[in-house]
Amino acid sequence: MKCRACTRKAVIKLPSHNSAFCPDCFDRFVLSQVGRAIEERSMIAPGDHVLVAVSGGKDSLALWEILMRLGFRTTGFHLDLGIGDYSRESRSHVESFASRHGLPLTIESLRDEVDGSVSDIARATRRPACSGCGLSKRYFFNRTALRTGATVLATGHNLDDEVSRLFGNLLHWHDEYLAKNRPDLPSLEGLSKKVKPLVRLTEKEMATYAFLRKIPYVLQECPHSADAKQLLYKKLLNEVEAASPGTKHAFLFGFLDRIDRFYPEGSPPETKEEASGLAPDGRCEQCGEISWTPVCSFCRLKERVRTGLSEKR
Ligand code: AMP
Ligand code: ZN
Repeated sequence: MKCRACTRKAVIKLPSHNSAFCPDCFDRFVLSQVGRAIEERSMIAPGDHVLVAVSGGKDSLALWEILMRLGFRTTGFHLDLGIGDYSRESRSHVESFASRHGLPLTIESLRDEVDGSVSDIARATRRPACSGCGLSKRYFFNRTALRTGATVLATGHNLDDEVSRLFGNLLHWHDEYLAKNRPDLPSLEGLSKKVKPLVRLTEKEMATYAFLRKIPYVLQECPHSADAKQLLYKKLLNEVEAASPGTKHAFLFGFLDRIDRFYPEGSPPETKEEASGLAPDGRCEQCGEISWTPVCSFCRLKERVRTGLSEKR
């Protein structure tokens, strides 16, 4: 198999792009795909200060490295979830990456704010661990972006993440989530601008990039494991992609071409509380962060964990 760009030996085949690349041309391909995503959707402007949410996994560490190579001003943010060895290893990869490249890094610990573990959160909310964990991440990401004066928050979601989320949201016609199913969300009062610059690249492409660039990342899976439904959607979509290369891309970008027509008003309220609650620029009575309700969902989560634990004691 030869590289389509230079005819040297190819190391990766990309049927969706009708291409195959050698390491050097693949590197150029990845940088150009990220550059294109950023430009097409005006994700990051030259003077921006980007807060990169880094989990210690391949996607977010590669994203941080790519943004650095593209010359953007970045600060890393890692949320230590306190999930045993998994979190210790994740955090250590993030710290080594930052010190190796001399990049600024902010770390916060979930356990400093919530009086319980991710398992306690799951018990208190009676939802899968990923749900309370996701809520906490969104809260910390936004709060840190605002506190550090970052103008954009970037996450390492890739094409597979975005396509499977779209698929799930469409299956259930979750209008409130579909309106937000985009790789660029504008900044609003109290809410940071959010972008996903890896949206044009697949999981496999990111794994290949991290390998070729020798970026060490956490290999073990989170013991609470990813959302089983999302894994099923990714598997199904990969089967369709294998039979018809380019489908994942066409599905997501076709939706993004139409999203403003489907949802001209932007996002409808997510919950009944939002629909009848405070204006979007309301503040949480307890923590002062943006909230649709008198007490924000993160502070309510903290309270549920606290009372749940004290009932047990
Ligand atoms: P996930 O929700 O685990 O699929 O992660 C999606 C993206 O969220 C990652 O690519 C990171 O940018 C960010 N992220 C996830 N977990 C963390 C964490 N513990 N600390 C900082 N960023 C994270
Ligand atoms: Zn609050």
